[in-house]
Amino acid sequence: MIELISAERCTGCNICVRACPVNVFDTVPGAMPVIARQADCQSCFMCELWCPEDALYVAPEPDGPTGITLAEVTARGLLGSYRRAIGWAPGSGAGRGADLSFQLLAAEARPAPPGPASSAT
Ligand code: SF4
Ligand code: SF4
Repeated sequence: MIELISAERCTGCNICVRACPVNVFDTVPGAMPVIARQADCQSCFMCELWCPEDALYVAPEPDGPTGITLAEVTARGLLGSYRRAIGWAPGSGAGRGADLSFQLLAAEARPAPPGPASSAT
């Protein structure tokens, strides 16, 4: 279950808000998102995978929250650990060799394709 967001690391990009398939987060204008519906979390790890700042922690226990603190998560090096294991974090070479899904990040960075040609007469 999603446990916490680090205010120190979060840039407020809201990528996690868009990545979450069950709308756990709410955006906050000019600030980092909030975990608004924690009980809806499906422990899919998508928010942790997509966060470019390693600012999120999703616990492997699905029935949380576990109550783990940011201090403990930080001390144990858990922020971004799933992202590194899967190979989405820069420099996570072993994971990148085992799984190529990190290539989605390059697709995300490309400009959006143009819309359909105007049919105005
Ligand atoms: S993706 Fe990461 S940096 Fe961006 S808003 Fe979410 S927690 Fe913050
Ligand atoms: S782990 Fe999945 S369901 Fe839970 S907050 Fe993150 S993206 Fe949403």
